[in-house]
Amino acid sequence: MDIYSEHHTSSISISKSALKNNIQFIKEKVCGDALLSLVVKGNAYGHGIEEFVPLAQSFGVNRFSVFSAHEAFRVMSVKKGAIHLIIMGMIENEQLEWAISNDIEIYIFEKDRLLSVTSVAKKLNKKAIIHIEVETGMNRTGFDQKELNEVAQIIKLNEEHLQIEGLCTHYAGAESVSNYLRIQNQIKKFNSIYSYFCDQGIKPTLRHTACSAAAVNYPETLMDMVRIGILTYGFWPSRETFIQYLKNNGLRGDDPLRRVITWKSKVLSIKHVKRGEFVGYGTSFMTSRDMRIAAVPVGYGYGYSRNLSNQGRVLVHGKRAGVIGIVNMNMMIIDINDISDVKKGDEVILIGKQKNLSISVTAFGELSNQPNYELLTRLPKDLPRIITR
Ligand SMILES: *Cc1c(COP(=O)(O)O)cnc(C)c1O
Repeated sequence: MDIYSEHHTSSISISKSALKNNIQFIKEKVCGDALLSLVVKGNAYGHGIEEFVPLAQSFGVNRFSVFSAHEAFRVMSVKKGAIHLIIMGMIENEQLEWAISNDIEIYIFEKDRLLSVTSVAKKLNKKAIIHIEVETGMNRTGFDQKELNEVAQIIKLNEEHLQIEGLCTHYAGAESVSNYLRIQNQIKKFNSIYSYFCDQGIKPTLRHTACSAAAVNYPETLMDMVRIGILTYGFWPSRETFIQYLKNNGLRGDDPLRRVITWKSKVLSIKHVKRGEFVGYGTSFMTSRDMRIAAVPVGYGYGYSRNLSNQGRVLVHGKRAGVIGIVNMNMMIIDINDISDVKKGDEVILIGKQKNLSISVTAFGELSNQPNYELLTRLPKDLPRIITR
């Protein structure tokens, strides 16, 4: 099959064997005894919720976390059989009835939602399955210390309508050792809040706090369940986290993760440019020799960030080619001067492998200060995700 759908200038494929490898790795080397909830927010980090969820299920995963009710709806429309699904962020009160009647689990981090969930559960005569999110130092969402007493009272009054499935929090930057003290404080705070709820006679079934970075860097955060996103897709939350993993395991070198996604395009056009000319808009790139360049039909309008101007790298014929000049809306220019025989139509790898080399997002993410997360989640939603072996 021709993977270049005629209406698109690039294509995305999803590797089943890579995903299987990563899930196995996470279960064996990261989670310990904790349950695993795969985070599929942000269109499954750009991989496509509709393609990704059934594949993950086929490898034994039955817990998923999303940010919004909209994403939950998409998961529900493709899942096979029973799953545990958590909405960690946005849901409107009008959507609660749908969520509760479908046993979708909901983060509760403010009183309005707690009261609304309780009243909808009453009306449906069904227990709402909730996760109490508490503030420990991220200062994003989560009940503050001073609200906990009231929360506990509301829960106790409504025991027959609420199933306290989780107590949770999120760490403010577990991927960098520079946040070490802040994270330690968060862990302490969380543990003391857990004790508080237990003392009140409220025992959440699952304590969960760890994302990928916390799970690797702070094993004490694994608790009863972990919420793992980026590792599943084959990326480390940061270089530091990868090094920490190698250190913990006495390993050197080899990355145990495999990239699930491949994003590729092809050479649109080739040109020779004389020494001393500017390439593209403005003056950000001047040729220092006579050189051959190629246009690739992907730009910031298709998810290739403008931050990667003069920074990004792609693969052509198994060799690295740098992005030169400013990334345009629909195009970028690459330097193919040292790659022989490049022709129009040749494959260009934007993320993924070609011959022995691979382009991870981190490779240029670090240069441009743009994390993997951002580039992945900006991948165009309208490109079909092609599932490969
Ligand atoms: C995104 C997110 C995660 C997963 O983070 P990764 O770094 O991708 O593992 C976990 N918990 C919450 C609350 C999140 O928003």
